[in-house]
Amino acid sequence: MIPFLDLQKVNERYAEAYHQKLDEVLQKGWFILGDAVQQFETEFAAFCQARHTIGVGNGLDAITLLLRAYIQLGRLQEGDHIIVPANTYIATILGIQQAGLVPVLVEPDPVSFTLCPIQAKRAITPQVKGIMVVHLYGQRADMPGLAALATEYDLALFEDAAQAHGISFYGNYCKTFSFYPGKNLGALGDAGAVVTDNPEVAAQVRLLRNYGSPEKYVHSLAGTNSRLDELQAAFLQVRLPHLLDENEHRRQLAARYSAGIVHSQIQLPQVVDPSLHAFHLYVIRTPKREALQAYLLAKGIQTMIHYPIAPHQQAALKHIATGPLPITEQLHREVLSLPISPVLTYEEQQIIIDCLNAFPG
Ligand SMILES: *Cc1c(COP(=O)(O)O)cnc(C)c1O
Repeated sequence: MIPFLDLQKVNERYAEAYHQKLDEVLQKGWFILGDAVQQFETEFAAFCQARHTIGVGNGLDAITLLLRAYIQLGRLQEGDHIIVPANTYIATILGIQQAGLVPVLVEPDPVSFTLCPIQAKRAITPQVKGIMVVHLYGQRADMPGLAALATEYDLALFEDAAQAHGISFYGNYCKTFSFYPGKNLGALGDAGAVVTDNPEVAAQVRLLRNYGSPEKYVHSLAGTNSRLDELQAAFLQVRLPHLLDENEHRRQLAARYSAGIVHSQIQLPQVVDPSLHAFHLYVIRTPKREALQAYLLAKGIQTMIHYPIAPHQQAALKHIATGPLPITEQLHREVLSLPISPVLTYEEQQIIIDCLNAFPG
């Protein structure tokens, strides 16, 4: 059996270092916003070549709190519209809603799967005040094009980088990350972060994540509780130094898939520039998706679908107003994610490639 992602194997490589971190935290007896959070925030900011990282509870909260910070600072108003790709994970859309803003779902580019400036431009109205880009599957969207659009229309530009840890970013736009265990940089539980160069935004997010409290028992605004957990921060410190090596292994695997898979019914993902792709996922397209997935499973190969139901077709978002989204709906019918991870071996991968090429469909 080749699992889609063997998290046990991913983490067992770091077991000794994790145990040591647990011992250190136990020894200090400080479990909330302690040294590990502070150190990880410094290390991750340096890694992203940004001034500030604010650790929060998860990736959804990172999006919500970043947008709430913009509202606190008067750069956005409640009810403003934010452009977002229609084929993202639902968290991006929920984060916008939870900040009191209105998501405007836009069709992605069908080849890169990410937001394109042409489609985004068509969705601009006087109410639109921002764009939330998603680097879906780990591939950087067309940031130069989207940045030019944002400048032309005076829109705030944000990046949901939950799938893109370690890519080379463009400019210094505010970014949000998730450290959910299966992400390229994963914790051993929930965790997330906001990354920004702007000291005012950083200060607002810092307040919002901790009850709006600049000092203990003083509350300057009605914040929430979404602190990065001290233990998770300590575990993330263990993994961060290995992230680029792990991404490089993913990149090699992706190149091997792209060179090795040859099948008339399978469309390979377009990689614009490998250095701008974290290969969180390697996603093929096929009109025979259900048959291919069942065939691979029968051969002992587990695959996943990211995502089986489009956000606008979810019961949770049934009241959201959108125009027709045929590209998004077709992608949701055709995408299939193949195993890719820092612990998938080339031998395992060759079995997958051989099976794919022999698919009778
Ligand atoms: C994982 C993910 C999130 C949400 O992260 P959580 O930590 O699970 O809240 C948001 N956006 C995208 C694109 C994601 O992949």
